[in-house]
Amino acid sequence: MKVELENLFSTDEAIQDKVIKVFKRYGIFLCEPVIRESSLKASFNPIVTLNEDVTYEQMASLYKSLKSELGIVSIGERFYFTFSDSDYEQAPLFTLNSTGNSTDMFLDDRGTLFSKSTYCDHCGLIEKEQLSPLVVDTSKFKDRYLLHASGYWVASEKLVTIMEQGNIEGYELLEVIHQGEEDWKQPAYQLIPKQVLPACSADRVKLHFATEGSPCRCGLGGIINGPNLYEKNNLADLTGDVFQAAEWSHNGKYLYKKTLFSRKFRDLIIENNISLEVKGEKDANFGPKDWLFDPILLR
Ligand SMILES: [Zn+2]
Repeated sequence: MKVELENLFSTDEAIQDKVIKVFKRYGIFLCEPVIRESSLKASFNPIVTLNEDVTYEQMASLYKSLKSELGIVSIGERFYFTFSDSDYEQAPLFTLNSTGNSTDMFLDDRGTLFSKSTYCDHCGLIEKEQLSPLVVDTSKFKDRYLLHASGYWVASEKLVTIMEQGNIEGYELLEVIHQGEEDWKQPAYQLIPKQVLPACSADRVKLHFATEGSPCRCGLGGIINGPNLYEKNNLADLTGDVFQAAEWSHNGKYLYKKTLFSRKFRDLIIENNISLEVKGEKDANFGPKDWLFDPILLR
């Protein structure tokens, strides 16, 4: 697995050479920027692989140089985790990050009862407990198989049938409450994992954006967790196909726990032509209905 950092920022065209020189001082060779003729702005979009040669700490001090020397303060940052073929071949479990490169993979909440409480006073993250079945507009499903609603996965009847025929185990179904257009409503089920995985290894990659200040002391706010990393021995006795992570994740506002799926489940989705095999969000196979599974890492 490699960690890549993408930056996006623009400057006056007049100082583009100076920007290139600052990056060069840190050992990073920038491509020529894209120039917008209308504004005479130079737009830079480097993608840097983080490793021993270029660490994130170096990038943070590079940002400081850009600010103090050239007055550049607004720098967009994004991390990518790129897996090797052997990461895909070895992983017994996968996190499911998306069921389509499209906003159609999300269902809005239409009135599920939650009890909410503040998890952290500093960053304001909220913990919520589900008190009723999910309330969603199932007419949005159309021919989709699995949609994401408020941190949970909701399966169509078609998917449930395929999972049953494929002997997928380790989950419960809770039928959702339909709220919306009556004509196109369909039965749909929240997928509830029956087993909780052991805790991730302490060596799991943890990142934060230097441009957004320090991460919160609660260990969640402002932290970007890398792929789930497990001690191999801790997973030796697992059975079943659907699991809940032990750790909290968050969407910037609410906490939730990730659902992980077995290799068998991923294979079933690909064999049934529900999704192409997608390896990373930059993969050309990642279309509007394709599923993005990331392998867990073992050590
Ligand atoms: Zn916090």
